[in-house]
Amino acid sequence: HLTDADVVVLGAGAAGLMCAIAAGARGRRVLVLDHANKVGKKILMSGGGRCNFTNTGTTPANFLSVNPHFCKSALARYTPADFIAMVERHGIAYHEKELGQLFCDESSKQIVRMLLDEAAAVGAQVRTHCAIDAVEPVGERHFRLRTSQGTLDCGALVVATGGLSIPSMGASGFGYQLARQFGHEVLATRAGLVPLTLSGRPLERLQDLAGLSLQVEAGCNGASFRNAMLVTHRGLSGPAILQISSYWQPGDDLRIDLLPGEDANAWLAARQRARGEAELRTVLGDVLPRRFAQRLCEAWLPSRPMKQYTPAQLREVAATLAAWPVVPSGTEGYRTAEVTLGGVDTAGLSSSTMMSRHVPGLHFIGEVVDVTGWLGGYNFQWAWASGHAAGQAV
Ligand code: FAD
Repeated sequence: HLTDADVVVLGAGAAGLMCAIAAGARGRRVLVLDHANKVGKKILMSGGGRCNFTNTGTTPANFLSVNPHFCKSALARYTPADFIAMVERHGIAYHEKELGQLFCDESSKQIVRMLLDEAAAVGAQVRTHCAIDAVEPVGERHFRLRTSQGTLDCGALVVATGGLSIPSMGASGFGYQLARQFGHEVLATRAGLVPLTLSGRPLERLQDLAGLSLQVEAGCNGASFRNAMLVTHRGLSGPAILQISSYWQPGDDLRIDLLPGEDANAWLAARQRARGEAELRTVLGDVLPRRFAQRLCEAWLPSRPMKQYTPAQLREVAATLAAWPVVPSGTEGYRTAEVTLGGVDTAGLSSSTMMSRHVPGLHFIGEVVDVTGWLGGYNFQWAWASGHAAGQAV
């Protein structure tokens, strides 16, 4: 049966385990409860099984939140270097893939093992298969939990139940429900880092190119990302699209630069001088996947020999190549999303302790909070940093 604890953490994921480690190290009696059959399922499935556990270039600018300043304090006090030091202490081999993204050489299981070993070393207990039925405030800094494994009391309650993505992995809206119960504002949630879908003509024009990938710079609502774009059976994916999906709202169009880093007009003019007899589709086929160049010239651009374009026509072609307009019909939703945007409003939380401004002893950390990172290890860094901040305070 469960015994009372100083601190109960709800959710044995990235943020919850880090919080337990930090609080346990300060001598707190910590109990972590999770309804799933094993801990850290998202860590296990992350980074294609190798866990992109941090990003060495993490800055507050890599996060979306209604209050972009909220994440600063926690990120400054627990940095990628702090997490890397823990990884190295445990002898876990890792490498940088690209853009500061660090992955395990072997397996994300090593990260879960490391967190459980660290938690055990400071005496923090972890219970799986534990459903939380109700949380009642008993008095100042005193909460009572009714769970499938019994009732217990605690002086601090940390909510680390994550977002809504991948429901099959134990995601639930429980954290949001608890926030509302205690009078917190929950900002509208939506899927982030998610493939975008197309419908109608655009889908018909691209569908049979599924599997094809190209380097682009995808832009929307003031943000842009240069990386690979992948055509899928339902629409568009790949890192550039996943990144921009977090900035996309229904109805917005994407601007996709198909010649990233090039001045499209100057490039076309140079091609015109060098290869006047060649058709546009052939010229584009030298720098884009051939079938994509072909389709572009069937559906979006007029293709004829380069020498036949007037300067004004060339500028029009350049404009389409630099900002190929695509209007997604939606996203693939929480089923495949890596993160959930929105969540517990940071206005109700202290940025240094993650504690509720009006319910002393109640904290919210990790993805349940309205702080969402880019693709590339930033979401785990937020989980570690916010977990550590709360663990220092409870
Ligand atoms: P989680 O890690 O999701 O943990 C929440 C925990 O709470 C879970 O164990 C869950 O079972 C438990 N829980 C939920 N509801 C209840 C309840 N009612 N009662 C009890 N327990 C409950 N980010 C990166 O930085 N790098 C990556 O490589 C990466 N890859 C990803 C790949 C995939 C496929 C997905 C889906 C996400 C990936 N992410 C990655 C995002 C990252 O996994 C999350 O942002 C991060 O796990 C959030 O940490 P968290 O502790 O807040 O929540």
